[in-house]
Amino acid sequence: MKVVYVDNNATTQVAPEVFEAIRPFLTDEYGNPSSMHTFGGKIAKYIEEARKNVADLLDADDPQEIIFTSCGTESDNTAIMSTLRSYPEKKHIITTKVEHPAVLNVCKYLEGIGYRVTYLSVDDQGLLDLNELKSAIDQDTALITIMYANNETGVIFPIEEIAEIARQRGVVFHTDAVQTVGKIPFQLTKLPVDLLSLSGHKLHAPKGVGALYIRKGTRFSPFMIGGHQEQGRRGGTENVSGIVGLGVACQLAKKFIKEENTRVKSLRDKLEKAILAKIPDTKVNGSLTSRLPNTTNIGFEFVEGEAILLMLDEFGIAASSGSACTSGSLTPSHVLRAMGVPFTFVQGSIRFSLSRYNTEEDIDYIIDKLPTIINRLREISPYGKTRH
Ligand code: PLP
Repeated sequence: MKVVYVDNNATTQVAPEVFEAIRPFLTDEYGNPSSMHTFGGKIAKYIEEARKNVADLLDADDPQEIIFTSCGTESDNTAIMSTLRSYPEKKHIITTKVEHPAVLNVCKYLEGIGYRVTYLSVDDQGLLDLNELKSAIDQDTALITIMYANNETGVIFPIEEIAEIARQRGVVFHTDAVQTVGKIPFQLTKLPVDLLSLSGHKLHAPKGVGALYIRKGTRFSPFMIGGHQEQGRRGGTENVSGIVGLGVACQLAKKFIKEENTRVKSLRDKLEKAILAKIPDTKVNGSLTSRLPNTTNIGFEFVEGEAILLMLDEFGIAASSGSACTSGSLTPSHVLRAMGVPFTFVQGSIRFSLSRYNTEEDIDYIIDKLPTIINRLREISPYGKTRH
């Protein structure tokens, strides 16, 4: 069956170039980079090459500011726990209500062990009020952790301004850039963030590899305690194939960033425009101006998102909904709720997230199938009765 994959914020296809580059490290070149012998030791240079490629995509000063991790979640956990350990006298964290669980659930855990957490709210566009941030900072604030772009809506926060505020107030600033790296250009030489998380599988590298940028001079205490790998900053034998893959994926991302912001963006815009024009009672969730080029989150009023996804799936279209299905009960998206999106839209919100592998044909296919799906569901929807 034809597959149209528009769930790239969940995960991406491994780029063929990445696959070719990592193949030797899963077959002949299986040495341990920490070994004394040449067979293993020679692998270390491939890790350093990958580190350079990640630093280059981020425009970091020095490749040594990058450590490799197992995923975005580990990078987020490391940034938060490292900072708290480095400032043991401080017990306050500032974050937002719309973070990924990799940050939100860590904050909830920390509240349970005595930390105070401020969860900044967002407006109906999914945007922050920076005055709220400024007034939340106090002497006890150890860390500000705010995502660069939201995984559900694609809304981009003003990270440069936030980083500047944090710097002026002398507070460490971490940003979860898992959804952003590879989609918009980075200039860490000019952007004063202290810590930044990224994840390989969101930018066409394999799953199971991530990275954390640690600006030179930032206090750091390892989260994964073990061997001397990563200059003692992250114990554990390196995921060599994953790291090599991430390096190549970063090289490719740099090459494709313009395409992401032109062709991919125009495919996203075409899809969004057609849906809004062809299907009544629909609206885009989140800011239209401060947004990732590949993402649109659209609310279809009076329909269940899960039902839309199932019907899209029958046509081979892979998208995702804002709600998570937890232990049998449908929990509406915390992001859309924080934005105050009306209940009838939250339930029927779908995220379409594109990549450079999507084509015009993919978009036309979705535009062809979706109106009929929504019509059919609205006919049978229990919410249908409330339609005006
Ligand atoms: N942060 C954001 C914003 C994400 O979207 C994700 C994954 O969806 C993560 C963190 C977690 O990344 P990983 O799946 O690599 O652990």
